[in-house]
Formats: sequence, C-alpha cells, structure tokens
Amino acid sequence: MEGLPISPWTVFLYALLTAVATGLGALPFLFTRGITRRHLGLANAAAAGLMVAASFGLIYEGVNYSLGRTLVGVGLGLLFILLAHRYLEGREVNLGDLKGLDARKALMMVGIMTLHSFAEGVGVGVAFGGGEALGVFISLAIAVHNIPEGLAISLVLVPRGVSVLGAAFWSVFSSLPQPLMAVPAYLFVEAFHPFLPVGLGLAAGAMIWMAAAELLPDALKEAEAEGVATVLTLSVALMVAFQILIGG
Ligand SMILES: [Zn+2]
Repeated sequence: MEGLPISPWTVFLYALLTAVATGLGALPFLFTRGITRRHLGLANAAAAGLMVAASFGLIYEGVNYSLGRTLVGVGLGLLFILLAHRYLEGREVNLGDLKGLDARKALMMVGIMTLHSFAEGVGVGVAFGGGEALGVFISLAIAVHNIPEGLAISLVLVPRGVSVLGAAFWSVFSSLPQPLMAVPAYLFVEAFHPFLPVGLGLAAGAMIWMAAAELLPDALKEAEAEGVATVLTLSVALMVAFQILIGG
C-alpha cells in the first residue's frame, strides 16, 4: 500500500513467524516416552501454571493502555468462557482421534489459546504502527512467548493421545490469528487501538478460568496435591521470569 512506512507484508511475515514459533513448544515431546496417568496430572499442572502466568502478562500489558478497559475485558472473557463451557458440556465433540471428555478438554484448550492470539495479533499490528523497531521487537517477544504456550497446549494434547506432529499443528493453528489480525490492526491502527486492552483482558479472563476449572481439577485427579502444587508454583515462577527476560 502507498504511503505506509512499513509494508503490510512485513507486518504479516513477522506475525507469521510468531505463529510458527508456537509449534516449537511441541518438540520436547519428541524425547519423552511412556507417559503415565501421574505425568498427565503433572502436565496439566504445568499447563495451568504457564497459562496463569501468561494471563498476568496480558493483564499488565492491557493496563499500560487502560485499566478500566482491561477489567471490562476480563469480565467479558469470564462471561464468554462460561457460555462456551456450558455450550460444550452437553455435546459430543470429536477432535481428530480424540473423543468424549478428552476431545472436549483439547478443544477448550486449543479454542482459548486461539482466542487469546487475536489480542496478541492486534498487539503486533498496533506495535508496528509505532514504528518498525517496536514492531519487530514485540513480534520477537511474542514469538518467544508463544513457545511455552505451544508447550502448554501440547501438555494437554499429547498425554491424551495426539501425536507430536498433531500437537505442533494445533499449536501453530492457535497462533494463526496473530498474522491475520496484525495486518488490519496495523492498517487501521487508530480504530483498533481502543479495543486492544479489552482483548488482552478478555484473553486473560478466559485463560485463568480454564486453568482453575479444567486443568487443576484434572491434575488433582491424577497426581498427589503436593506434586501438583510444586509443578504449578515452579511453572508460574519460570514463566514470569521468562516473560520478564524477553521483555514481553
Ligand atoms: Zn500469549
């Protein structure tokens, strides 16, 4: 497009890179074998910790723009996830080879992580509106932050029987809204800007709820509370440290 300081293609390619990075989160599963029920429990605890910590990152990011609109977003996220949960509860869901309860959990996980990527895609686009250096920096920060999110998705999918390649696919899929939203957000940055904190809050509200309602109860069913709490604490701490280190 004429007159734009940065080509929309550049924005698209950087945002696509962030999506591809999410697939890297599935790779540790290439080196693990013989997952027991207890491992499934602890994997759920780790996924919960990563999601809670990532949610706080989103809230702090939103508060930089507007506290009020971020909190409105959290409320909307809660409402959305409650409705989605009730809708799915009475329904037969299949996801690839998964059926029943496992498929429902997997679908909720992929669905919520996909939803939260919309907000991050807008974040990338808005950042490019502030100049190429800022846009590239935010893209790289989100790309790196997507890797543990791909890990969180894979921690839910692989122990339930999805292949590593399948988990990598769903991880990348969950981040596709990033390239799709980044370009319109960059082109119409003035119009998107006010909604960014709402989107960030919405994603955070849904992710915290998912961790509390789905991942932790599952974790406690399969593994002892001490182990679950230890893994949860460590994964929250590591994700917070990681996010601060990458500045995202
Ligand atoms: Zn994220």
